Amino acid sequence: TQRTLVLLKPDAVRRGLVGEILARYEAKGLTFVALEQRTIGTDVADRHYAEHLEKAFYPPLREFVTSGPLVAVVLEGDEAVEVVRAINGATDGRVAAPGTIRGDLSLSNRENLVHGSDSPESAAREIGIWFPDL
Ligand code: ATP
Repeated sequence: TQRTLVLLKPDAVRRGLVGEILARYEAKGLTFVALEQRTIGTDVADRHYAEHLEKAFYPPLREFVTSGPLVAVVLEGDEAVEVVRAINGATDGRVAAPGTIRGDLSLSNRENLVHGSDSPESAAREIGIWFPDL
């Protein structure tokens, strides 16, 4: 079994999609290890997105992820990292496949509702940032 870190970004909370999104992971058979709503500052945003700090899209992304409450979740299950990324869909909601969270519910490449760790190594790093007691 495997763990992965998921964020329901501030657009998901603002749009009232938290229940809908969590239901998709839950229905798939993944289980919740930890789940907390938080509003983060630039310190946590910069740690989480360390690999993107120098990218042109990062300043507006930082602004967005610190703009209001988000929901941080640790999900567990067989191949959880890959399964969650498949459920989330492609980064850009405008081209993400129908049936995925982003494909069904997002029309943006920034406000794309969710984050999922991209590897087991990233998951371990990110879980350490968001839920250091796990
Ligand atoms: P995540 O890591 O959030 O699951 P991802 O792995 O699909 O998404 P990354 O390339 O790691 O995407 O980018 C991280 C986040 O930065 C994206 O989820 C999106 O919110 C934002 N982002 C990525 N590329 C762009 C872009 N070209 N323009 C605006 N925002 C972007």
